[in-house]
Amino acid sequence: MAKLLHLMVHSVYSDKNVFLRELISNAADACEKLRYEAIVAPDLLGSDPTPRIVLTLDEEHARLIVEDNGIGMTRDELVESLGTIARSGTRAFMERVEAAQSKDGAQLIGQFGVGFYSAFMVADNVDVVSRRAGSDKAWHWASEGKGSYTVSAVDLADAPARGTRITLHLKDDAKTYTLRWTVERIVKDQSGHVPVPISIVEKPGAEPAQVADGTALWTKQKSEISKEDYTDFYRGVAGQYDEPALTVHFRAEGRHEYTALAFVPGSKPFDLFDPDRKGRMKLYVKRVFITDEADLLPRYLRFVRGLVDTADLPLNVSREMIQESPLLANIRKGLTNRVLTSIEKLIDSDPDAFAKLWENFGSVIKEGIYEDFERRAQLLALSRFRTTAAEDKTRALSEYVKDMKDGQAAIYYLTGENLAQLQASPQLEGFRARGIEVLLLTDPVDSFWVTTAPDFEGKPFKSITQGAADLAAVARENDAAAASPEANPSVTDFVAFAKTTLGEAVSDVRTSDRLTESAVCLVAPEHGPDRQLQKMLQGAGR
Ligand code: ADP
Ligand code: MG
Repeated sequence: MAKLLHLMVHSVYSDKNVFLRELISNAADACEKLRYEAIVAPDLLGSDPTPRIVLTLDEEHARLIVEDNGIGMTRDELVESLGTIARSGTRAFMERVEAAQSKDGAQLIGQFGVGFYSAFMVADNVDVVSRRAGSDKAWHWASEGKGSYTVSAVDLADAPARGTRITLHLKDDAKTYTLRWTVERIVKDQSGHVPVPISIVEKPGAEPAQVADGTALWTKQKSEISKEDYTDFYRGVAGQYDEPALTVHFRAEGRHEYTALAFVPGSKPFDLFDPDRKGRMKLYVKRVFITDEADLLPRYLRFVRGLVDTADLPLNVSREMIQESPLLANIRKGLTNRVLTSIEKLIDSDPDAFAKLWENFGSVIKEGIYEDFERRAQLLALSRFRTTAAEDKTRALSEYVKDMKDGQAAIYYLTGENLAQLQASPQLEGFRARGIEVLLLTDPVDSFWVTTAPDFEGKPFKSITQGAADLAAVARENDAAAASPEANPSVTDFVAFAKTTLGEAVSDVRTSDRLTESAVCLVAPEHGPDRQLQKMLQGAGR
């Protein structure tokens, strides 16, 4: 913990303000959890049903107090949530911060779920006093952020009636966080769209003044929302500090009604390929947060962040019922279509943005080629590839097909681990000699989709490391008159010699149009996995 705090303080120093966003976002989460639990247990709300977050500024004692009337924490929850370094993301966070530039540090905080600790960037001591909704006990957690903490019971009179009060004893250089103007500006900038109203109390005992009204951004008309509003909101919901690459905001009307606000992040989240990573789309019912595990988008769009809010589900819907609801299937389909068409539109409207998006997420989107049968053609058309035809830009399959040679029947590809290795492959010689373009596929997922995608615009995909190369039908560009190797008796003799010498080690030896410079190469049989897939399967112990 001490190491974590050291890293955090030093690597995100320039962006200290984010601590406030993290604490406010936790407070808002706590209010939403309470709203959700209160659907089945309305008593939890008692006589105080309206959620709120209050920031109290205490210049005299150099304190900033963040209080919410949300769900609160039991003793065990305090220890579990704030007291352990063993929480899943923490270790990975430290490795990344050590490796990253300081500017990335701020981005990493939210992603790794270590937001609470950012309080120690500005405070020497932090006191957390919390009372869980429905509990008749309150607890006090205290730490100097140096690796240890204490937890003790407190009098109910010294605790909020419900929820959590976090008192930051500010460091000398962080006293500006007791100034009204500073704090108000930060709240409006960073947290203006949190769905819980936020007030500031200028000094202990003063009247609270509201600085953010808790209106959920997604319920407003698009014309009332600025680009900055969307960016702020995206940062809150995605836990990233970059600009979204794409914003999709729409209201679906008709048989099912819902509002969706979704973002494609501007950079790649660290855990994109983590098998445990779930979709990060939140489901709301009438502005009440229900779950972020509702599979609102297919796995291959798991990088998309945002939410869907609908009035067409009962508030007390169980998480299991949601998965079976026809509404969910409808939302999933509508949202997937909108996200994909928005990405497609980017191709023409902002080619650079599209190229960046593809670089960040293309390897995930390609999983859809084999996972989403219905949209396979659409996803293939969206995909971009490195090929032998262009050194440093990507190509679409439609461009490939348009430029195919006379007599060329297939879309050829070569799979491998990296571009340089592929470009040096002798397997390419015969194709280069004929000016035939070959896709150079380096993502692990490529070896899988090529075997399930039968064709693009009627042209089959064919690995150049597999079976016979069928190149005879396409003329060579330089020496069109090159003699067929079969015609040469010493070649036939050599093939016979190789066959008897290699025996069982190979299934066949034959002449080929594939090579122009090299003498021999290995190819895989016509049917079954190609060379790269064979290697991957061997590597996986299959
Ligand atoms: P994250 O919010 O990503 O889970 P944090 O470090 O910000 O990570 O918070 C850790 C956990 O502490 C939260 O998940 C929550 O369980 C608990 N927590 C933090 N602040 C509050 C709060 N104000 N009310 C209730 N629980 C809280
Ligand atoms: Mg948090």
